[in-house]
Amino acid sequence: METATTCEELAAWNKAYLWHPFTQMKDYVKGEPLIIERGEGILLYDVRGRAYYDGFSSVWLNVHGHNVPELNEAVASQLAKVAHSTLLGMANVPAIELAAKLVRVAPKRLTKVFYSDAGATGVEIALKMAFQYWHNRGVGRKTKFITMNQAYHGDTLGAVSVGAIPLYHDVFRPLLFSSYVIPYPYAYRTSGGASAAMEATLSALRELLESRADEIAALLVEPVVQGASGIIVMPQGCLREIDALCRKHDVLLIADEVATGFGRTGAMFACDLEGVSPDLMVVGKGLTGGYLPLAATLATDEIYAAFYADYSEQKTFFHGHSYTGNPLGCAVALASLRLLEERKMIHTVNAKAAFAAKKLAPLADWPHVGEIRQQGLMIGIELVRDKKSREPYAWTERIGVRVCMRARELGMLTRPLGNVVVLIPPLASTEAELDAMTDILAAAIYDVTEEGWGA
Ligand SMILES: *Cc1c(COP(=O)(O)O)cnc(C)c1O
Repeated sequence: METATTCEELAAWNKAYLWHPFTQMKDYVKGEPLIIERGEGILLYDVRGRAYYDGFSSVWLNVHGHNVPELNEAVASQLAKVAHSTLLGMANVPAIELAAKLVRVAPKRLTKVFYSDAGATGVEIALKMAFQYWHNRGVGRKTKFITMNQAYHGDTLGAVSVGAIPLYHDVFRPLLFSSYVIPYPYAYRTSGGASAAMEATLSALRELLESRADEIAALLVEPVVQGASGIIVMPQGCLREIDALCRKHDVLLIADEVATGFGRTGAMFACDLEGVSPDLMVVGKGLTGGYLPLAATLATDEIYAAFYADYSEQKTFFHGHSYTGNPLGCAVALASLRLLEERKMIHTVNAKAAFAAKKLAPLADWPHVGEIRQQGLMIGIELVRDKKSREPYAWTERIGVRVCMRARELGMLTRPLGNVVVLIPPLASTEAELDAMTDILAAAIYDVTEEGWGA
């Protein structure tokens, strides 16, 4: 038999055959697995018919909700034409149309689109383009990258090499190329707060560039919000200063907008918040509205030009994936961008963000809420053992996991980042839905941390 029919069979097969990402399977097989069957709007339904708010946009992807007629129709009508054909030496209709559209909405210097299928591959492409850009220009010494403390850029080895989250990355260190790491401005955990944190970042960067810019190809940054490290928001003006320093020292700026792109932060791209136009920009996650795996690396004319030569000069960018520029993904991305404009989503994100901020504000006084961080509809609540000293919960307490499990019982899905609980709802969420989701989040935090209240 190849089709499981009952919930019990599905659960058994799940445990027997599936190995889940970022999941300790020994824990997973102990519980009753959550198996999603369908979605409608911002709700997901499991095989037993229970409904959950998608409080983390299915890991930060979803924009317009699930099962959206306009997006379904975009996939179906493309499917009736062709599901896939390659971009190696030829093109397809939606890949061209989407490239034109992306260039129109992206920061102004970005004029060329190179597709792939995940944020991580998009980052690999940016790294390789930056590296080969200098090589093609005959500047062979510029081979190193600068990344930021606690950065996350995906899970392939190149992306891990510019990653800096010890829990995820340390085990692979022997396989990786080394990168320079500068501090990310983490105001809550810097004595002196935002201005001291920003100054520490900028002075480290300044010092590094003054001594070593001639060996550095590019700096990689999660613009304005560092996501996986705990939704850490940069002090205002910091990204602009980073950009200016890179430009001054002839180092490329790569913006990883995989998490922040397409309205999530309250602007089309987080770079727009600071008027920054990077040399390379990676987009993924929300690009297709959360429907299909598609990513893109956008480049400037200047970078493109360094590869544009007679074939015999061997400046070609030899990189591609089987499904690069998949027409179904491109068609649904186009439809998603159209909805973003038609529904004036980015404008509404700011109003919704203000609503959520107001709802969550009282939690700031709770004894185990260290800091509430927010940029647009990216929200992270850092829980602490001791509010005054900011002492973190020990990782063994799994406080974030416990709060998210409680939220699930109360009808909302989300995933923690260590001791940080996130609320990253689909941009389409209404105020009524945000009201319900913030209530669940607050209740879950209260229920799990309550035992410490008054102690
Ligand atoms: C999720 C993420 C990635 C990796 O994207 P995948 O599609 O999971 O490979 C890269 N960078 C950032 C900032 C991300 O949030």
